[in-house]
Amino acid sequence: MRVLVTGGAGYIGSVVVEELVRDGHEVVVLDNLGNGHPEAVAPGVPLVRADLRDRTTVEATLRERGIEAVIHMAADSLVGESVQKPGKHHDNNVGAGLSLLDAMVTCEIKRLVFSSTAAVYGEPAKQPIEEDDPTVPTNPFGETKLAFERALPWYEAAHGLRSASLRHFNAAGASERCGEMHDPETHLIPIVLQAAAGQRDRVIIFGENYPTPDGTCIRDYIHVIDLARAHVLALAGLENGSRIYNVGCGGAGYSVLQVIDAAWRVTGEGIPVKMGPRRAGDPARLVASSERIQRELGWEPTLGSLDDIVASAWKWMQSHPNGYASGHSAD
Ligand code: UDP
Repeated sequence: MRVLVTGGAGYIGSVVVEELVRDGHEVVVLDNLGNGHPEAVAPGVPLVRADLRDRTTVEATLRERGIEAVIHMAADSLVGESVQKPGKHHDNNVGAGLSLLDAMVTCEIKRLVFSSTAAVYGEPAKQPIEEDDPTVPTNPFGETKLAFERALPWYEAAHGLRSASLRHFNAAGASERCGEMHDPETHLIPIVLQAAAGQRDRVIIFGENYPTPDGTCIRDYIHVIDLARAHVLALAGLENGSRIYNVGCGGAGYSVLQVIDAAWRVTGEGIPVKMGPRRAGDPARLVASSERIQRELGWEPTLGSLDDIVASAWKWMQSHPNGYASGHSAD
């Protein structure tokens, strides 16, 4: 299939592109490079540098490249920033997203896979979280992703646009070529590995008195390649209708201390830690039930061990000591 990936120069998007290419799809990336990096785009895949609000360029790309489906990954994704700048997140995640949908309608493209987030659930009602559980976002990032998700059935009713929304849990790890490095970095695994590499003094653990076995927060870490595979399967699954899927590894999840232990095992380096206060808006435990996507699409996490995830991130960091060449790295 000929597929447009918006945000395909970003951390997760670049790996989605790799997996699409591996499966024989023809891929075009559209990215404004606000967060992404051109080097993250797989070799041979055309990159159109444009904003989603640029209807002329987006429609020309859809038409001229003969696009049959869109995987929409482009977004602002930093929770802290979303709290500080709710307007920016609404503008990029809802406004620009709707502009993309309208361009798709104009060009009669009726297949969409949307990268959503576990943040749509907010403080979850129960664990593991299922797709029909209440969605009560606690920050603008989750709110804007949910707003876009909620527009989709209306576009389907009016224009026949089919969609799959994938609610990601904690993407982590790296492929051979593509890895995670933000500026500033806020995510746990890269921060822990930077401490192991001596690039930062210590890891601050955000809270030690949560109602979890070791007192630190538990998350569902999923290898970015497994997450990318879910997007490719969801694209094929659109033939059966519109769906919403959680994508995580499930099980018990891993605490902050377990992640630090894994990084110590993988790197062999001591990792200085310091206990700090809780971070605002952090739920104690977020673990997915991915039973629906496993049952309906046959998806399974194959790279789910925490040590393997951390090892792949460590390998990427060592082979890319300065991130991508320009020093500005994929989001
Ligand atoms: N965390 C931490 N110290 C850090 C960064 C993160 O203790 O320097 C914790 C954070 O409170 C959360 C978990 O690690 O419980 C994962 O955080 P991350 O930002 O990677 O992902 P999130 O779950 O917020 O999307």
